[in-house]
Amino acid sequence: MQRYNDFHSYSLKTYGKKTARLTVDGGFTCPNRDGTVGVGGCAFCAAKPQPVEPIGVQFTDQMNKAREKWGENLRFVAYFSAFTNTYESPEKLKERFEEAILLDVDGLMIATRGDCLSAPVLDILEEMSKRLEVIVELGMQTTNEHTILAMGRGYSHQSLENAVDALRARNIPVLLHLIIGYPGETMDDWMDSVSFCNNKEVHGIKIHSLFLEKGAALTRAYEREPFSLLSKEEYEEAVAEIIPHLHKDIVIHRLTGDPDREQLVAPLWARDKLRVISGIRKKLKDKKVKQGEHYEKNN
Ligand code: SF4
Repeated sequence: MQRYNDFHSYSLKTYGKKTARLTVDGGFTCPNRDGTVGVGGCAFCAAKPQPVEPIGVQFTDQMNKAREKWGENLRFVAYFSAFTNTYESPEKLKERFEEAILLDVDGLMIATRGDCLSAPVLDILEEMSKRLEVIVELGMQTTNEHTILAMGRGYSHQSLENAVDALRARNIPVLLHLIIGYPGETMDDWMDSVSFCNNKEVHGIKIHSLFLEKGAALTRAYEREPFSLLSKEEYEEAVAEIIPHLHKDIVIHRLTGDPDREQLVAPLWARDKLRVISGIRKKLKDKKVKQGEHYEKNN
């Protein structure tokens, strides 16, 4: 029995086929790294610029691999995931997104920050969303302003809320990232994030544990003076508590993070994504709960 609304089920229900997400690096940067907002990036972020190949080249290899693995009955979504994918002039953004659309993808997923969605950029997203599925992914992480300050994200939760409202007003589906286990946060904070997602009727969420990769400011702080991180058991328990409070229609795109094995510093259990997912599923089964069961409007 499926106890939560995962991306695979959503894709089958909505489109009758599996969706393969093709990761695309559009060659963008981030205002929290280029000096506009900050230079060091968010405390937990270890993203590094990589050499960028043309979008068509990035696609071909991934498309072939997806077909080898899952067969021909697939739909493809171009997932602009690296850095801030609306941080460019509207003309350049349009050019880059159209390049992907020309490759015959069925949808776009565009990861960005809540402070990088100007009216002209929203116009482009809205126009494209009338032609194909466009999901905008925002790194909310938490609703707690103290944590947001500690993360050095460089914009407030209120700004993020404004961005969610602006996207929703244009009928553009919103996907929010939540981090479970940031230092100083408790279940109350995580439930608050869940309530926010419910109340904004977002399309989906991605849930991550806090993990520390080489190169992030928080990792350096941990190496100087280790602080407590959630154990695998604590993380699984927290996620199994959260899921029943989430509205049943919100699509869970991710249940745990997927750190680079070579880059991961702590906690080492985060390397084993499949074991974590199966631990969460077991907890939901043991508790005999499923997504939406404890949902209350404005909870
Ligand atoms: S998490 Fe996103 S917004 Fe923060 S530094 Fe990394 S790329 Fe920039």
